[in-house]
Amino acid sequence: MAEDLERLKQHFPLLEYLQRHNWSGHRASARLELVGLCPLHRETHPSFSVNTSKNLFYCHGCGQGGDLIRFVELFHHLSFRQSVAHLKQELAAVAHSRSTSELLAHAAAFYQLELHRHPQAMQYLERRGLHDSALLEELGLGYAPGGNLRRHLSGLGYALEQLLEVGLIHPQGRDAFCRRIIFPCREPDGEIVNLYGRSIGAAFPHRLLPRSKGGLFAWDSVRHFSIVILVEGLFDLAILWQASFRNTTCAIGTYLSPGHLAQLADTPGRCVYIVFDQDDNHAGQRAARQLARQLRDLSLRARIVDLPQGQDPNSYFVAGAASADFTACLQRAQPL
Ligand SMILES: [Zn+2]
Repeated sequence: MAEDLERLKQHFPLLEYLQRHNWSGHRASARLELVGLCPLHRETHPSFSVNTSKNLFYCHGCGQGGDLIRFVELFHHLSFRQSVAHLKQELAAVAHSRSTSELLAHAAAFYQLELHRHPQAMQYLERRGLHDSALLEELGLGYAPGGNLRRHLSGLGYALEQLLEVGLIHPQGRDAFCRRIIFPCREPDGEIVNLYGRSIGAAFPHRLLPRSKGGLFAWDSVRHFSIVILVEGLFDLAILWQASFRNTTCAIGTYLSPGHLAQLADTPGRCVYIVFDQDDNHAGQRAARQLARQLRDLSLRARIVDLPQGQDPNSYFVAGAASADFTACLQRAQPL
């Protein structure tokens, strides 16, 4: 019960509750405090203050103070039990109105915490050559062990229908990303628009939620480069970032949407090194040539980078290549 109440207060900050009931305050001298008119008694001079870090209120006019539940008791004239029930109901309504991007942010944060709890996930990352923990943190990498996301999100007030609608949970009740490494796909404003999941087991390797994958990956940090490296997969991107090629971006696959092309073309004359997989059926190379022509039509410079047969950037580094080897590949790259 006590744990239940703590979670309720944690997921429903006092300030958010007050603002939903049309209270407004201004920052007081102490940075974490807001002051405004008291909703509990009539007054013309603000004496009601909210401490946003402690999640507590106090009114110097009527002397009332406490936490969110205490406020609901006083504001709605309810008993403690009634107040808790009222808050749970209101939280469910709030959660339903929260946007999908908030839901995805909650899911991504949950998966991020799970990553270090599952040795099989960390071992998989090691096999893929990723060992820089600061980088994993920066990319927001996570792991979906399966079987516990639904309970977590329900605890935050999300309805099952919403989880099904977004595709995080299968109609049979299973986690869509079960046993997958998770990369959150963010827009430049930080909003998470999709999750990419790479299977660490026998399941089909790649999975995205059935919604737009958004713009070029991490474009916010890559856009200021006049030379950009474009790769096929997020493990390629991660290993190149780890090797200090921070000008690497990715469209998750070899197809670039008009939106992706417009992003690359936002700097006139930008040079794009295309490093797609060197697969045996030459699909990657064909896609690279087609893309290079599209980029040229947009007045960009394009170079097609050849890696040793059968390699992608990730496997190339895992096989022992160093930054200098990759730089040499870039230098050998030819214009179309
Ligand atoms: Zn008051």
